[in-house]
Parts: sequence; structure tokens; C-alpha cells
Amino acid sequence: MKIRGRVLGVSTGTGIECVLIGLYKGKPLAWKGKTISMDNGNFSLTIPYGNIVRQWAHWLLIKGVDAPFYQVSVIPEASILELEIDDCLSINNIEPSMFSYMRIISDDREQKSYKFGENIARKILGMSSRDKGEMELKSSGEEKKQKLKVIYESGQYYLMLENGVKCTSCGAVVESQSIWHLEHYPRCKSFIYRYTGKMNVNIIVGIDSRPAIKCMQDKYKLAGSDLLELYSNIHNPKPERIGNIDQWIDNPAELKYETVNLLREELKLLKMSLRGGEANER
Ligand SMILES: [Zn+2]
Repeated sequence: MKIRGRVLGVSTGTGIECVLIGLYKGKPLAWKGKTISMDNGNFSLTIPYGNIVRQWAHWLLIKGVDAPFYQVSVIPEASILELEIDDCLSINNIEPSMFSYMRIISDDREQKSYKFGENIARKILGMSSRDKGEMELKSSGEEKKQKLKVIYESGQYYLMLENGVKCTSCGAVVESQSIWHLEHYPRCKSFIYRYTGKMNVNIIVGIDSRPAIKCMQDKYKLAGSDLLELYSNIHNPKPERIGNIDQWIDNPAELKYETVNLLREELKLLKMSLRGGEANER
């Protein structure tokens, strides 16, 4: 992915670091590159790894190597963010229209993944506002007999599979006997028929802020690329975050914490500018 930009007031040959950041299956991703500024502070560089970057990059961080400038912004062609459900619930001002899809991934060796559209995603997220709840789901598989339910109790989500098949050799639960034969036999030796059980799951929520970004770009056509800036050394400076960048950029847990913060900042920016607040002054 090619990045081009301009930093004002730096001399030719200043080192510039760029990091693209995204969230895929709840895990943070970061791709780094370095370049030096040309005349008038112009710079360009290419971050390799092609499609995966284009598919999952959402934010761009630009920082001087030995110069005090920095800027963190949403990239104009920002991708969907795949957030873990707990992180999603901890950010309570996500517009319901941004819930694009939900992926429920079983926590066993099979890691079976079920994908649902935005309506189901909203309903499942809504279950967390009550003590407990359950909801029947229609899976897209061919096996009509199979019943899937999402259960919420004591702050945890589970997937309940009715009339499934439990492999007693490896412990996985599959939808049907034919799938067990196809995927487990002869490696595994036996199974329990008509198994009903609760499975631990990872739930991933796809957050799509692109329609809101588009709306904002249409509203402030003259603002240019500064429009999507979350913070920088000039606007809304956060030296404490940038000063520690070497600590968090390569540490998955800290990088994830930062991505949740970035999403909070982004939602604040979108909300403010779509209401016509501070972004006018930029
Ligand atoms: Zn098995």
C-alpha cells in the first residue's frame, strides 16, 4: 500500500516512520515502514504485504524519527474493524448502524465459524443488557436438523448446539454424523450421537464506520486529509501516547488496548463532525 503525504516545516532528509493499524478477528495488526522527507516535507513510501494490508488497515500513524511531529488518522479507504465482543461492549457509544456482521467462532480445536448479518449482531449484543438470555439462530449449513442457540449468562456468551455430534476422541462438536465421517474419521475413533451441549465461543463484531466517514467527507469537502485526523502534535496532542510508542506498537496486548482507544477517538470525531461541532474549525 502506497502512502504519500507532507509534513510542514521539516528539513529535507528527516526520518519519517509510518504504521498502518487494523483489527482482524479481534487481534491488532500493525505494518511498519520508514522513509525520509524530500523537498517541502513531501514523502512517500510503500508498505508491502499487498492485499492483507489493503483489506484490514484502518488507521495510519506518522511520526518523525528524530523530529517532534506525529499524526494519527483514519485512512480514507479504512477497512472494517473486527472487534472482540467484550471490547465492543466496553465502548458504549457505537452507532447501531455500524454493526456490520458478527462472527461466532467455537473455542475448541475445530474453531468452527458462523457468520451472521447486522440484525442478528445487534440482537446478540443487546442480550448483554439483561442478566441472561437465549436466542435461536439459523445457521447457513445444509444440515436442517441442527439447532444453534446463543446463550448469555453470568456475563458470558456460549453457543448451544442441539442434536449435534460430539467426537469423543478429540472433543470437538460437529453438526452431523456425515460431517464427523468426513472430517474426523479415520483420525478419530468414536462419537456421541444427538449431543446437546454448551460450547465456549469467541465472538467477533465487524464494525463498519465507512458510511459515517463518507458522510463526513461529503459534509466537509474542503477540509482535505486533516478531516480524518484523530490526534497530532498540533491538534489534540497526546505526547504521553506517542512517547511510549515503542512499548505498545510491538506488544499485542498493549496495541490492542490502543486500538480500542483509537476507535473511541474515531467515534467521538464522527459524532462531533456529523453534528456539526468542532470539526468546522479545522
Ligand atoms: Zn475428532
